[in-house]
Amino acid sequence: MDAVEEFAPGEPVAVLTTQPLDRLLDYAAPETGCRTGSFVEVPLGPRKVLGVVWGPGQGDFDRSKLRAVNRVLDAPPMREELRAFLEKCAAYTLTPMPAMLRLATRAPGLGDPPSMRRIYRLGDAAPQRMTDARTRVLEVLREHGGLAFTLGELAEMAGVTTSVVKGLVKQGAVREEDSPRDLPFPRLDPDRPGKTLTEDQEAAAEALREGVRAGQYGTTLLRGITGSGKTEVYLEAVAACLERGRQALVLLPEIALTSEFLARVEARFGARPAEWHSGATMTERRRIWRMVGEGGAQLVVGARSALFLPFRDLGLVVVDEEHDTAYKQEEGVMYNARDMAVLRASICGAQVVLASATPSLESWANVQAGKYRRIELTSRFGASILPEMRALDMRAAGLKAGRWISPALAEAVEARVARGEQALLFLNRRGYAPVTLCRACGSQVGCPHCDARMVEHRFLKRLMCHQCGETMPMPEACPDCGAEDKLAPVGPGVERLAEEAGQLFPEARLAVLSSDLFGSARALKAEIEKIAAGAADIIIGTQLVAKGHNFPLLTLVGVIDADLGLQGSDLRAAERTFQLMRQVAGRAGRAERAGLALLQTYQPDHPVIRSILAGDEEGFWTAEAGERQAAGVPPYGRMAGIILSGSDTAQIFDLGNALARNDGPLRAVGAQLFGPAPAPIARIRGRHRVRLLVKAPRGVALQEAITRWLAPVRLKGDLRLAVDIDPQSFF
Ligand code: ADP
Ligand code: ZN
Repeated sequence: MDAVEEFAPGEPVAVLTTQPLDRLLDYAAPETGCRTGSFVEVPLGPRKVLGVVWGPGQGDFDRSKLRAVNRVLDAPPMREELRAFLEKCAAYTLTPMPAMLRLATRAPGLGDPPSMRRIYRLGDAAPQRMTDARTRVLEVLREHGGLAFTLGELAEMAGVTTSVVKGLVKQGAVREEDSPRDLPFPRLDPDRPGKTLTEDQEAAAEALREGVRAGQYGTTLLRGITGSGKTEVYLEAVAACLERGRQALVLLPEIALTSEFLARVEARFGARPAEWHSGATMTERRRIWRMVGEGGAQLVVGARSALFLPFRDLGLVVVDEEHDTAYKQEEGVMYNARDMAVLRASICGAQVVLASATPSLESWANVQAGKYRRIELTSRFGASILPEMRALDMRAAGLKAGRWISPALAEAVEARVARGEQALLFLNRRGYAPVTLCRACGSQVGCPHCDARMVEHRFLKRLMCHQCGETMPMPEACPDCGAEDKLAPVGPGVERLAEEAGQLFPEARLAVLSSDLFGSARALKAEIEKIAAGAADIIIGTQLVAKGHNFPLLTLVGVIDADLGLQGSDLRAAERTFQLMRQVAGRAGRAERAGLALLQTYQPDHPVIRSILAGDEEGFWTAEAGERQAAGVPPYGRMAGIILSGSDTAQIFDLGNALARNDGPLRAVGAQLFGPAPAPIARIRGRHRVRLLVKAPRGVALQEAITRWLAPVRLKGDLRLAVDIDPQSFF
């Protein structure tokens, strides 16, 4: 990429816009001039759109006919590092640049002038007449030292109407000022003492600090069981990064972004970091985006898209729970934030820490190949030890139909509850029952738009499609044969499990943790915190609970169906089951009390179940790596999914077949093509989906080959084509 160039007024510049166009557009530099990276507003037809100056104009047509850039926005220009990152990320994921720019500008009002807001602080004069309401306002301001508030905030905190505050302003007892809306975040202090680390932890922390101090790119896999202190250790790397005046980013799977975590950061550094996630308000997003670019935010804690923020000087990226599938975005720009974090860090000379108790096979293989360094934390902090794990052989449990909690598990739960401890019953299935069956005709109620079965949600009194979100009232008669009162639930979901637990343990307080039971991520987080503090005796949950929360009272985990993930033909089924079971088991006994994990299984001899129980991770990975190597699949081979979708099946298959016939560019690099075949989810929201799968040896220029192969495609009508490099879920 070209270095930064300044453009005089009228000079042609090439602008990348957020509009879906396949090229840069030429404009004349505005009166004020501009430079590479300037955020600009440009006219496009009758509209004004957001863009970034990407370089000198490219067209060779008449300069006098060029439309001019409307104005340069008041934001720091996009740095060369971020421009290079967006280009490389686009090339890797085969994403058009405008979509990349949209991802990098996901904050509203970037084009607004620096806006001010009115704030209120303590004045010098005493009011002539005191009232209770006035006293409360002045007390609030005194209590908060020099702080200022908006009119609404102040009135609310004092419990008065805004006119009370205004009255005080008239008398000079409260001062009214204008201040910039987007304030810098409070300074974090890296010099505050952290916890006293164990020898093990200190060695790990020192290795990470050294990496950060070197000021170069490097990736470290920080592996340690849940509770071994990975977070404490990587916060030391964050401290070293802040000390050097560089910025740090901690990525978490969205749901692990709890205030428990933020409070730990606050305890370590004396202030809260910037928090970037889907629940953030537009105002918060805008403030973070701006402050990250101006250096007014030292540390961002965020979900995957935080990786595209315009950091001024990013020195460290931590990817916590690096194996988590939530890092892969499956719609729009299909990127894996873990891999793209490594890419961005390599461009800006930053360190990456991938933390996990159960690393992905990809990262494990990168360590084996010498690309990543590996640091191990071997023991749990303090008295807590790994929970004991045992299989409960369900073949011998003699459960009645419609029951899922074995007597042995029930007994263990009973004992914990009696001692005032918590038990978790884990089942990775939302809703009441996964299947609704007609006992008259034998048909299963399916989604009218998709390929999926409708899942009963008794709590909502509806059937719901987990694929497309379609819902319908629970029908009274079978949609197929019309028989009444014959529909019956088959199989368990968490709601049904809760019903069973309610009958088995009538005295216990139950809490169901499932993403669909909460209106917002915030509500969910609040609920998780209450439960962690002891508001429930028995927690019934889906994979939500496996992610990073600390439940100090929890000492028993019962896995209702450990075999669930072993079914199906997903390439990563074994890996996922292994990770999920280890994570769930890791929930138990994190504080002083020892934990126990019981896995209900019909296949106690399955290799995955056996290695989980034996705690033999190295053995599991070696075996799994061997199988994938033999099959030539990721991470030992490369894959890409091509999803064709549209309303007309024949048209989709025509295109799919044409692509299959003309696969020369793929064969030229030794890649194989499979399909077209109906995609595993063959219909979503009424659109049919067909998939082709490309499999290639490692080290071939797969993206280039795919680009050449797809270049002649012209999409007709509502036909769509999406490329998914390194697909995560394709079976
Ligand atoms: P992980 O991230 O590996 O799950 P954490 O860093 O969350 O582990 O540590 C687990 C718990 O143990 C946390 O509550 C943490 O504060 C505590 N802890 C870990 N190491 C120390 C230490 N050296 N001193 C005090 N508390 C610690
Ligand atoms: Zn559906």
